[in-house]
Amino acid sequence: MKIEHIGIAVKDLGLSNELFRKLMGKPAYKEEIVEGEAVKTSFFEIGESKIELLEAMNESSAIAKYLEKNREGIHHIAFSVEDLPSEIQRLKEEGFQFINEEPKEGADNKWVVFLHPKSTNGVLVELCSERN
Ligand code: ZN
Repeated sequence: MKIEHIGIAVKDLGLSNELFRKLMGKPAYKEEIVEGEAVKTSFFEIGESKIELLEAMNESSAIAKYLEKNREGIHHIAFSVEDLPSEIQRLKEEGFQFINEEPKEGADNKWVVFLHPKSTNGVLVELCSERN
């Protein structure tokens, strides 16, 4: 496992892309819409990991709901795993609760599942693996 990326909820992806371009000293290497989540994302490289910025595309998006209750900021931490199904099984046996146990298509060519923050000390954890 490694930290694949840190997801940050933002209100305005354009403004935040500019802010993070200055912060990181280079622009986002890609922008991508994830229809299933109703989010616009952008990705910045930082060493072996990434920063993912997420903007809601409509009010039903999880990011919109998050920003109703919280300020802009860190939304989730994503761990990359080699074998997603066996990791899901292992964590279920350890008693963790999932938001979705069935991997769904995420940004940046990944399969993703989310653990419920109530079982992870309040941290929304994403597990992801490459989608081939
Ligand atoms: Zn993510």
